[in-house]
Amino acid sequence: MRLIKKFTAMAMAVLMAASIAACGSKAEEPAEAPAAAPEAEAPEAEAPETEAPAEGEEPAAGGNIGVCIYKFDDAFMTTYRNALQEILEGKGYTVTFMDGKNDQAEQNNQINNFITQKVDALIINPVMTSAADQIIDMVKTAGIPTVLINREPTAEQMAAYDKLVYVGCDARQSGTMQGELILDTENKGDINGDGKISYIMIQGDPENIDAQYRTEFSVKALTDAGLEVEELDLQRGDWDRNKGQEIAQNDLAKFGEKIEVVFCNNDDMAIGALQAIQAAGRKVNEDIYLVGVDALDAALNEVVNGNMTGTVLNDAQGQAEGAVAAMEELLGGKTYAEGEQSIYVDYVKVTPENAADFQ
Ligand code: BGC
Repeated sequence: MRLIKKFTAMAMAVLMAASIAACGSKAEEPAEAPAAAPEAEAPEAEAPETEAPAEGEEPAAGGNIGVCIYKFDDAFMTTYRNALQEILEGKGYTVTFMDGKNDQAEQNNQINNFITQKVDALIINPVMTSAADQIIDMVKTAGIPTVLINREPTAEQMAAYDKLVYVGCDARQSGTMQGELILDTENKGDINGDGKISYIMIQGDPENIDAQYRTEFSVKALTDAGLEVEELDLQRGDWDRNKGQEIAQNDLAKFGEKIEVVFCNNDDMAIGALQAIQAAGRKVNEDIYLVGVDALDAALNEVVNGNMTGTVLNDAQGQAEGAVAAMEELLGGKTYAEGEQSIYVDYVKVTPENAADFQ
């Protein structure tokens, strides 16, 4: 599938840098414990922990950056957050990360605190895509250059503020690649030869466009190839490993051998589903197929071991580099016209053949 990309010359440069980075990028094992980034917990500690430089001390080059993550306890966003921290600190910025704890009201407070602190720029991973108008209104009123990441608002919403850009991926591409991973199998997903591909879909948070598109485009790749499909179940697993495990376990008990393909909108849920698949005595790539998205370390290992059919690299390193590059353009005074505010980094299909390249 060809993607519709809205690139400015700068965005092209960002993408090129991102693609180069993709070759050597590494998706981290999901961290149970929050990563190195500082965490603000108590309400009184709510204000960013950025400290004014001591007397006689030079402020860090590049200024103060506030980063809001939708929740720290998300495997992929932990990898992404670590990459952002390394890049920003490596460039001499003073950076403060806030954990939105999956609560939009909490994140709004954090954004307001950053605004009060007069940070130089914001990088925001919204809790709710539906809150984009509200977030954009806040940062626009404060005049703070802002990069949105991971949860894409509409072009119309972003057009409200010309010092705002979104850096992410086009989730249609990852969905299509998941479908292709199934098409690439010897029986094109039709293990029992009954003429149709019977699947279950374990979806991320359906409020998120990534979940909507991956769900739609993974199956579309099959039907576009002229194949018949049968959806046995579709359930929201909210990007969560335990929920992925539970859904797969229930479905395996209910549908048994009828299930030929398990589509998971991300790897963390696929790892959970794999636990259920193994507990049910099923064998991936023999009597069932399993695909995810992200290329977390744990998933790459399972692809190499033949316990996952494949995954799709969601390039955290490339996106983090793109986000920082876009932020620096904004800090340099660049403004964005409507329709040019989305910068995409490509996904990459991961199979046993190339999985080691990403480990
Ligand atoms: C990733 C998921 C992650 C989600 C958070 C998606 O792009 O694939 O693993 O949970 O973003 O919004």
